Amino acid sequence: MNGTARTTLRRRPERGHYDRDTIHAILDGTFVCHIGFLHDGHPFVVPTIFGRQGDDIYVHGAAASRMQNVLAAGADICLTVTITDGIVLARSAFRSSMNYRSAVILGRAIQVTASDEKLRGLAIITNHVVPGRWEDVRPPTAQELSVTSVLRISIHEASAKIRDGGPIDDERDLAFRVWAGVVPLRTCIGEPEPDAKLADAISVPAYIEKLRQR
Ligand SMILES: Cc1cc2nc3c(=O)[nH]c(=O)nc-3n(C[C@H](O)[C@H](O)[C@H](O)COP(=O)(O)OP(=O)(O)OC[C@H]3O[C@@H](n4cnc5c(N)ncnc54)[C@H](O)[C@@H]3O)c2cc1C
Repeated sequence: MNGTARTTLRRRPERGHYDRDTIHAILDGTFVCHIGFLHDGHPFVVPTIFGRQGDDIYVHGAAASRMQNVLAAGADICLTVTITDGIVLARSAFRSSMNYRSAVILGRAIQVTASDEKLRGLAIITNHVVPGRWEDVRPPTAQELSVTSVLRISIHEASAKIRDGGPIDDERDLAFRVWAGVVPLRTCIGEPEPDAKLADAISVPAYIEKLRQR
């Protein structure tokens, strides 16, 4: 995968990456994306859960959803994911920054209609959030499947941008007496809270314990 005229980074091009492995790793590091699209001449950017397998991203929603219908009709989209790794505190406000990994994917979505691919797409989304969950939950009924829209977005035109490391201060600011460095940011998975109606003797599954250790 190469950067195209639309995806090649101009600002800090050394932070740009266009290879499959880097883009896949960023997508696999989170499960919420933001999808931008035009509707009635106005831009909207909507958060949604996604899953990835190979070069395909799957998203889903109610068949009646505006976003699902606009995307299914072939709208141009921009799908973005962002992982924040740290707050970079330089000695000046100007040089202060963030450590992050982000990806921007341009393209169009295809509506998945075949029920076997629809189920596969839902399994990919479910297991992208909690690996192993799809194999454990009650599968969708034909009726549930009929009111659910599944869309596939192929990763053809994409870029990643990564910033890491400490502050890059101007030489003349190094003597300025203020704390400088990086404050790391982490997403923590907390203690599972059982549903009040959970039947006795159902313990937290191993795949959730595994998720917590990830
Ligand atoms: C973390 C996260 C994960 C989500 N995952 C999914 C998913 O997997 N599938 C799914 O269908 N939906 C998901 N949603 C909800 C999603 O953001 C939309 O609300 C939903 O898809 C309906 O979009 P729409 O354009 O059809 O909504 P409409 O109801 O037609 O939108 C009308 C207007 O409502 C406002 N609006 C809509 N959604 C939001 C929002 N999330 N926040 C603030 N304002 C809003 C906007 O102004 C929008 O233009 C998720 C939301 C979050 C925050």
